[in-house]
Amino acid sequence: MSKQINVALIGNPNTGKTSVFNALTGLNQKVGNYPGITVEKKQGICKLPRGVKAHIIDLPGTYSLNASSLDENVVIELLLNKNDKDFPDIAVVVTDVENLKRNLLLFTQIKDLEIPTVLVINMADRMGYKGISLDIDYLEEKLHTKIALISTRKNEGIDKLKDLITNFKDVSVSPCLDTTTIDPIYFGNLKKAFPNQLLYKLWLVITQDVNFGKTNRKEFDAVADFKTKSKGDLKRLQQKETIKRYQFINNALAKGQSIDLSRAKDLRIKLDRILTHKVWGYLIFGIILLTIFQAIYDWSSVPMDFIDGLFANLSEWTKNIMPEGAFTDLIAEGIIPGLGGIVIFIPQIAFLFLFIAVLEESGYMSRVVFLMDRIMRRFGLSGKSVVPLISGTACAIPAIMATRNIESWKERLITILVTPFTTCSARLPVYLIIIALVIPEGRFFGLSYQALTLMLLYLIGFGTAIVSAYILNKILKIRSKTFFVIEMPNYKLPLPKNVVLTVIEKTKSFVFGAGKIILAISIILWFLASYGPGEQFNNAETIVKTQYASQNLNEEDLQQKIASHKLEHSFIGIAGHAIEPAIRPLGYDWKIGIAIVSSFAAREVFVGTLATIYSVGNDDEATIKNRMAAEVNPILGGPLFNFASGISLLLFYAFAMQCMSTLAIVKKETNSWKWPTLQLVIMSAFAYIVALIAFQLLK
Ligand code: GDP
Ligand code: MG
Repeated sequence: MSKQINVALIGNPNTGKTSVFNALTGLNQKVGNYPGITVEKKQGICKLPRGVKAHIIDLPGTYSLNASSLDENVVIELLLNKNDKDFPDIAVVVTDVENLKRNLLLFTQIKDLEIPTVLVINMADRMGYKGISLDIDYLEEKLHTKIALISTRKNEGIDKLKDLITNFKDVSVSPCLDTTTIDPIYFGNLKKAFPNQLLYKLWLVITQDVNFGKTNRKEFDAVADFKTKSKGDLKRLQQKETIKRYQFINNALAKGQSIDLSRAKDLRIKLDRILTHKVWGYLIFGIILLTIFQAIYDWSSVPMDFIDGLFANLSEWTKNIMPEGAFTDLIAEGIIPGLGGIVIFIPQIAFLFLFIAVLEESGYMSRVVFLMDRIMRRFGLSGKSVVPLISGTACAIPAIMATRNIESWKERLITILVTPFTTCSARLPVYLIIIALVIPEGRFFGLSYQALTLMLLYLIGFGTAIVSAYILNKILKIRSKTFFVIEMPNYKLPLPKNVVLTVIEKTKSFVFGAGKIILAISIILWFLASYGPGEQFNNAETIVKTQYASQNLNEEDLQQKIASHKLEHSFIGIAGHAIEPAIRPLGYDWKIGIAIVSSFAAREVFVGTLATIYSVGNDDEATIKNRMAAEVNPILGGPLFNFASGISLLLFYAFAMQCMSTLAIVKKETNSWKWPTLQLVIMSAFAYIVALIAFQLLK
């Protein structure tokens, strides 16, 4: 195998790194996390001429090598650690032609690490419109580099970039700034102490608190002496460094770039005025949110029904063609529905990310963040938390995946933790049947009590999310800097390629990440519901048949009675019985217990499970309702589902963390079991307490 060329894409946020990455790698990409932290790591392979391959990393956006966030640390740690397997043979610094001056600061820092560096000036398609012209030859000479002027939008210049990567050995490594000139005495001493080290690298080690691999750290131990210079002095040197860098950049751009302002007519200012307006801004955002929400809710219902039917048929078909037996059951009733339970989320995930990608790509998302930030910040959330919280009303899974663009880890974690409180669509069937049972039909100012209750439940969900965020913000001790610069990129038409790749990547990462856990738990739950110990389970058929021998039941009713008897004596049934003492104070019996245990798989299973226990057809809602209405509370007498137990159950479902798919995605997004476990325990305990209080007060 010939050696791959390691390429690192580096640049300020929004300069088009990911677009360049997509242009170079196409579908040959892999997204994961950096070990131990939740910063996204994108890698891909780019095929170059003569069978050479380049391994490309799309590093997180960073403004400079002075780290202020986890994301920026990733970049510094990679660039300072020659032993890292990803250490670049060539750094590609991506800049935006419209913000060249600011973007070049990072470029000069990387050059000074004496890593072969080429400069990509992206968005060349905007130059005419903005009246910008560049003297590339002049700039190449001044900046000691090779330049690829490209437009990923028009797909221009990519070949030139590939060429530069292929010939990485020819790229200059001469620095932009002589570090010593920042402060001759300080850096003179530093150089004397470490004659074999690169001066600028030492300077970063001193100022950046980077975490090196073990072997590497020793080399720099003695650097500690140089850190003792007072904090203020180091800051002053850093400021001096920045000034020197801008002098260098200005000098190069003075002749290398010319901007004809008269041609820079700008729509942007006008659009910004409306989109971030105190009234119109919110109104427009509200309408956009409603549309998104409607789309993930409504548009996905067609493909979701289709998927549902498809997997049901597949189960049926498997059962028919395979020999009867435990193995067939495992496949038809455990594995296929488990896979179905994963695939069914794909439409919602795809639609949500389609919208998000378009909003981000167009530059609108930054306006939303600007608009919402002030409000959300009070609750420890970010302006970007709005989208997950709202999309959570459809489903928590795509919503939690949508938190990935929140830069601050603390804000992101809080958003992940509180999103499951918003009322997702899986709670709806549970709410509807219980409301129909226990809330009277009257009206209040023309609004039906039942509709009001439903609305109240949505409000409770949202309110709890906000309040929990506020509390979490106070108690979570996580140091995580928020971006104080809100980037206002230019408005652009989204690049279809970027949008499509985002959708594919999110879907893939859900299916292969959380999917495994969902499948495993589905199979376990299936096993627990389909097997049981002892006589009652194993001989269910004979027992039920003898019991109803005199009643002349038709075949279908008989089968339902058998299914019900089996479920009662399956492991889940036993669990339902076992937790009865614990849930009796909430007003529930063991049948509801079974429904609660099994709706851990997914809340909407609640109705189906009750249907099986009451041995009625699954789709016959009227009959389930009648059966439920006729149930008698064994201890207190009177209907089991009355106002008190109904409200208690509604509140329980509003707060309990009963969705293994959500837990699976939280595990994936936070990279640890700690957070989903805490979520499960705390939310369920809270649900229990609230339901208990409600029942005891109302009964
Ligand atoms: P990153 O944050 O550096 O990864 O940047 P992205 O690749 O996400 O791009 C940021 C924005 O710039 C997106 O809206 C892109 O569609 C847009 N963009 C990327 N390349 C070009 C280009 O060549 N021309 C124009 N006009 N826009 C581009
Ligand atoms: Mg990017």
